[in-house]
Amino acid sequence: MLSRNSLNFSGGPGALPETVLAQVQQAIIEVPEVGLSVLGISHRSDWFASIVRELENNIRLLLNLGENYHVLFLQGGATQQFSMIPMTFLHGNTRPAEYLQTGYWSGKALPQAQREGPVKVVWSGESSGFSRLPRNEELNLSEDAAYLHYVSNETVEGLQFHRVLGNDSAPRICDMSSDLLSKPCEAERFALIYAHAQKNIGPAGVTLVIIRDSLLANARSDLPEFLNYRTQINAHSNYNTPPVFAIYVVLLVTRWLINDIGGLEQMDLLNRQKAERLYAMLDSSQGFYQARVEPHDRSLMNVCFNLPTPAIERQFLEGAEAAGLSGLKGHRSIGGIRASLYNALTLEAVDRLVDFMFDFQQRSKQ
Ligand SMILES: *Cc1c(COP(=O)(O)O)cnc(C)c1O
Repeated sequence: MLSRNSLNFSGGPGALPETVLAQVQQAIIEVPEVGLSVLGISHRSDWFASIVRELENNIRLLLNLGENYHVLFLQGGATQQFSMIPMTFLHGNTRPAEYLQTGYWSGKALPQAQREGPVKVVWSGESSGFSRLPRNEELNLSEDAAYLHYVSNETVEGLQFHRVLGNDSAPRICDMSSDLLSKPCEAERFALIYAHAQKNIGPAGVTLVIIRDSLLANARSDLPEFLNYRTQINAHSNYNTPPVFAIYVVLLVTRWLINDIGGLEQMDLLNRQKAERLYAMLDSSQGFYQARVEPHDRSLMNVCFNLPTPAIERQFLEGAEAAGLSGLKGHRSIGGIRASLYNALTLEAVDRLVDFMFDFQQRSKQ
């Protein structure tokens, strides 16, 4: 069995399931059914075509997607989608696209959209330090926006929407990079969903894009081939050399979700248990550990908190690292502590963190 010295609480690239890592280890040497290393198998082979087919089917199964959706595996990360979406669906449009600015990542999407056409920021959490998300009453969304764009889980701040936003008239577009496949998500209410793999569903290098076919009716067609969703659809995500390794690992993760976990409802139950344990620890610490965001909007994936002083936070991180708890340092833009509890991070790992936190607080009192 694999042994490792540290548990991985990193915000991304995130932890992957042990059983997947064991299969990857084997596949680096030899994919059993092929007799070659996964790093050296042609993307034009029948084997790879079958991998893409199975992965697409698994995604459709997990998310309950109908035939009116395309499932793509693209390159360029979520960042590429920040541009590709407005280039395709906003460029030349007179109706604005509506964007929510709820944190670091939605803020990164904004200027890329503004380059392409009119953008209306319908809500910003900047003045509240991105410590909460809007309530429905605070959102005045138009029915004929080019589209609505938001981020379902703000990875840096630890904010997560626990509902689907907006009306059903304007196309709903969502960056789900850090919570896709962590729970059921009513995928068919979205016109386009994108998520890179490296937070919750695989290694870096591949980005999942799910598009409703009808959205493409308004798509601009004069884009470079590579940046045209139609090209990628027609080529079955195999237009140029795709990241074969990353796609293979994501397939293994979806098999794990389906066969070992038992689907997204089960995954959600587990993820809730994990987050509840950690938030309960914060809430019972009498202010020693301060949750960064309002209870209603807490993320199940990224638990962000502060300690009484930056110096104590540094001691905490050093102690955690020494105790085999890795990746707890908050994002460089805001500091503090962030514990990421992605799918593959186990309940036992959360218990080890909670035990460490309890001890650390006791020791700090002395
Ligand atoms: C990490 C992250 C990104 C950036 O993704 P890249 O693949 O590095 O471009 C975008 N959106 C969200 C929500 C993220 O968590």
